[in-house]
Amino acid sequence: MGQQPHALVVPFPAQGHVIPLLELSYCLVDHGFKITFVNTEINHALIAAALPEGPSMMDPMVRLVSFDDGLAPGEDRRDLLKLRDCLMKTMPMCLEELILKSHEPGEDKITCMVVDGMAPWVLEVAREKGLRSAAFWSMAAAVAATIMKIPKLIEDGVIDADGFPMKQEMFQLAPGLPLMNPAHLTWNCYGDRETQKEIFHHLLDDDQRNRVAEFFLCNSSYDMEQPVFAYAPKILPVGPLLTGQRLGKPVGHLWPEDRTCEAWLDQQRPNSVVYVAFGSLTTFDRGQFQELALGLELCDRPFLWVVRPDLVEAAIDAYPHGFRERVALRGRIVGWAPQQRVLAHPSVACFMSHCGWNSTLEGVRNGLPFLCWPYFVDQFLNQSYICDVWRIGSKMMPDENVIVSKEQIKSKVDELLLDEDTRERARLLKELAQKSARNGGSSFENLKRFADAMKHEGDKD
Ligand code: UDP
Repeated sequence: MGQQPHALVVPFPAQGHVIPLLELSYCLVDHGFKITFVNTEINHALIAAALPEGPSMMDPMVRLVSFDDGLAPGEDRRDLLKLRDCLMKTMPMCLEELILKSHEPGEDKITCMVVDGMAPWVLEVAREKGLRSAAFWSMAAAVAATIMKIPKLIEDGVIDADGFPMKQEMFQLAPGLPLMNPAHLTWNCYGDRETQKEIFHHLLDDDQRNRVAEFFLCNSSYDMEQPVFAYAPKILPVGPLLTGQRLGKPVGHLWPEDRTCEAWLDQQRPNSVVYVAFGSLTTFDRGQFQELALGLELCDRPFLWVVRPDLVEAAIDAYPHGFRERVALRGRIVGWAPQQRVLAHPSVACFMSHCGWNSTLEGVRNGLPFLCWPYFVDQFLNQSYICDVWRIGSKMMPDENVIVSKEQIKSKVDELLLDEDTRERARLLKELAQKSARNGGSSFENLKRFADAMKHEGDKD
């Protein structure tokens, strides 16, 4: 018997990356691994502060460590480009130190690295240190495939050499893949034109760097994105990972969860509650936020709404006058929900979502129909999956004033909750998704194959 395999797991420091990579870590622990999980200092502190039962909750096989991201304490870490620039400078050295330290007597030697596909510059460290490595992609496989095929998009005249749309009409990467709008390609949905161009070129570089990894894992399944895996066979689906489903183990939340909403859900009728949440980065302007509040009021149904402290731009109390009092009996508002448990609750009837990939997978895993309200980056593509490919949801459509009106909110909720066909499709997709992630399913087997390969190196030493 060789030494215990020990993976250095490196998420990009954002909520939608930390959660799935922590779950992947637990999966590796199930396969006999020890884990060193690397967070920025700020996220490390937030995760620790959000643990409902304190640090003793951590799995003894998962060691959380932290490094300084290089940004000043008050700087905006939601500026993903600035964050990335700093991380590229600080992360590789910190990881090298961790690896070297793990070689010291009495330490458990790090034997492999699992790196977020959005932080591929650290794969070079694995190569230099002779460690086996895998990239983990926390968005849809279709997003990864689109980035891998950028040269083809340029050749076909879909985009120019800086990633900007050359065509108005929808295109398909290959038969069977979702129809995509060139204006909604991931890099074209963030910031101004200069920023978009910069992101596009970063993604091209990152794609080259990710090729160093031996495995390219993706939190998806064959059933959910079949044609993509035929088109880009390097992408190995290992999902949907069962995030938040391990009793007593931290999910990796960066905000403290308000668990009181579970007791409130217990008091609601089965299949009655509209759950409204827009992930960790979405922001609303005051006008749209108020319209959403009035729309939820108009629905005249129970709702659970996550209003993060930073959800509304420049507003302390942005609610319409008297709103909270008027909805107090049937509306629950929390700063951060234990979303994975909320979505699994029998009272929840549908999910109004920004369509982040994790939220999408969590809704799918629980067989819920969606009301899609994408905000940026990959969320428009995820909306296409939900509404056009799997047909388990409906799109919220901004009007000519770029507002989703309260009347639309009410009519979309009413329609969705009466739509038995959509519910049935959501139920069927749930079964497929759960089957693939459980023992014997295709994603489970892929994960096992990957874990076995990573172990091999440990045994060799
Ligand atoms: N989430 C949560 N509680 C909330 C809102 C979100 O636990 O109140 C979790 C959600 O379950 C998901 C993650 O935060 O796992 C958000 O990731 P996603 O990819 O959906 O969106 P992002 O935040 O990256 O835009």
